[in-house]
Amino acid sequence: MERTLSIVKPDGVKKGLIGEVIKRFEKNNIRITAMKMLHLTKKEAEGFYAVHKTKPFFDSLTTFISSGPVVVMVLEGEDVIKRNRDLMGATNPKDALPGTIRKDFANSIESNIVHGSDAPETAAFEISYYFNALEVCG
Ligand code: UDP
Ligand code: MG
Repeated sequence: MERTLSIVKPDGVKKGLIGEVIKRFEKNNIRITAMKMLHLTKKEAEGFYAVHKTKPFFDSLTTFISSGPVVVMVLEGEDVIKRNRDLMGATNPKDALPGTIRKDFANSIESNIVHGSDAPETAAFEISYYFNALEVCG
């Protein structure tokens, strides 16, 4: 059993897609074991995306992700890291497969509706960034 972190980014919240994203998880037998809405500060966004701090898009990305409320969720299931990435689609919506969240709803490579952890190590860090052990249902 694997865990991953999902975020409905500010563009997804503004477009009214929280329910749509959750529906796709539920339809695909992905269990949500923790969830909350929060509005990150720029500093908190920089901490979350620290892995990207040398990238040219770091400042713009952290401004974007702190521009409005987000919904953070812990997902659980077999192979859930990859299964969530498959539901999300490629980072750039232009490259995303039909039927993926990003292909269906994203405006740009930056404003791409959802985040998903990419490996067990990043999932562990990202989940602990938002949730303590008592906040994640078994
Ligand atoms: N991003 C961007 N420009 C790029 C690449 C990424 O603005 O050229 C943003 C985008 O919002 C992406 C996030 O930075 O989702 C993290 O990038 P990553 O390569 O980890 O993509 P992801 O794992 O989200 O598909
Ligand atoms: Mg990533």
